[in-house]
Amino acid sequence: MNKDLQIYNTITRKKELFEPINPPFVGMYVCGPTVYSDVHLGNCRTFISFDLIFRYLSHLGYNVRYVRNITDAGHLEGDRDEGDDKFAKKAKLEQLEPMEVVQKYTLGFHDVMRTFNTLSPSIEPTATGHIAEQIEMIKDIITNGYAYEKDGTVYFDVEKYSKEFDYGKLTNRKLEDLLEGTRELGGQDEKKGRLDFALWIKAKPETLMKWPSPWGWGFPGWHIECSAMSTKYLGETFDIHGGGMDLQATHHTNEIAQSQACNHTVPVKYWMHTNMLTVNGARMSKSAGNGFLPGELFTGDHPLLERGYSPMVVRFFMAQSHYRSTLDFSNQALQAAEKGFLKLMKAGETLKKLNATTSSSVSISELKENCYAAMNDDFNSPILISHLFEAVRIINSINDGAEKINQNDLDELKFIYKTFVFDVLGFKNENTSDSGNSDLTGELIDTILNLRLEAKKNKDFVTSDKIRDILTQKGIKIKDTKDGFEWEM
Ligand code: AMP
Ligand code: ZN
Repeated sequence: MNKDLQIYNTITRKKELFEPINPPFVGMYVCGPTVYSDVHLGNCRTFISFDLIFRYLSHLGYNVRYVRNITDAGHLEGDRDEGDDKFAKKAKLEQLEPMEVVQKYTLGFHDVMRTFNTLSPSIEPTATGHIAEQIEMIKDIITNGYAYEKDGTVYFDVEKYSKEFDYGKLTNRKLEDLLEGTRELGGQDEKKGRLDFALWIKAKPETLMKWPSPWGWGFPGWHIECSAMSTKYLGETFDIHGGGMDLQATHHTNEIAQSQACNHTVPVKYWMHTNMLTVNGARMSKSAGNGFLPGELFTGDHPLLERGYSPMVVRFFMAQSHYRSTLDFSNQALQAAEKGFLKLMKAGETLKKLNATTSSSVSISELKENCYAAMNDDFNSPILISHLFEAVRIINSINDGAEKINQNDLDELKFIYKTFVFDVLGFKNENTSDSGNSDLTGELIDTILNLRLEAKKNKDFVTSDKIRDILTQKGIKIKDTKDGFEWEM
């Protein structure tokens, strides 16, 4: 195994993107939500970006083990081991047991992820479910000489670590610069060094979530959970570690140090960081109070929203920017996204009805290559979407009779649509509930409407009207056409 420190903040290589990474297995770890409150749209951007990456790698044939954790303990309000425990604070506020807080917001998070049509990760481990693994890891780090205990709290010794390893490597910053950005230690501080961070924190008498350990009752620091769980499920060195860019400087820097100090190896081959969703240029965050909840966005019930937008329009809006670029929220951008998304879905419906001719006047193989090239170039979804709009143009021209397509090309065009629009970008047609796969609901409605057609042909209007009334009651709009029928949900 290559022990050289290989850190890529971004992946910019093209076709051979993942060839060096133990094909066909890919281990991917993404820092999940801290479940003490509802996820906002910024959090969703990060998880939807990794859903796209998971979907594309799976499409390429990689066997991806996608681990996305749930942080349900050990998250203090301050970045430097100070402040209240977020879970305890919320539990007091909502008059709930802390694990009720965890349950409530975990379920809410899953609902939101389903609404955005994201796939479930392969494993979703929780910090509270892995206290033993975290304690074992801390014990090893102490044994290896990179951590020390002070009155029931265990600190990682950054100064000692920095003598052998480049602590600031991930953000390309020197130790002196990092030190400059932190406050001097006071007489009260237990830490030896300004950059030292807690691996285990001693419980106060009022601490609600605490566990026994070799250092007494306490709870784990935030960073150790990800090192312990990623090592457990993906090994000491794994392929991809992701999260939002805000996690790079502290959380991920500390994860590297912990894993290196414990396992004597670099934990991650490729670091991938998503950029921030911003509102009027400011990062969307829970603390800034500018975080829309997905529900508010769908209903339009927020002072900054002119109206509501559907989950797939929001997903489209996100896919229109590259995951490493910032994405600024605006009503205008969402309205443009809505137009684009509806155009893409409408062309998908038209595609189903196209007929092949003996020859083609369009080049579908080039289109397919372009789609793959876009995704192979660091998962460039905006470029992919621009190629899919070329597909839309082709579909509409064939439909208008301006271009023609043979059967082979038509099959390829359908493959492109199914693969990239539905399987990779993760869209679904909210009107027809088409998700590109054989859709049972759609097939059943088609079957019923074909029976209705037969009834009409046999002049059995009682049955045909009954079928129409039942489907109309269920919210299905039926339009009789000269070739048969069209329907919408
Ligand atoms: P949290 O629940 O705050 O721990 O965040 C969960 C995930 O969302 C982390 O990977 C964060 O980096 C990410 N995140 C937080 N705010 C934003 C934002 N405004 N845009 C994109 N990702 C974000
Ligand atoms: Zn993490």
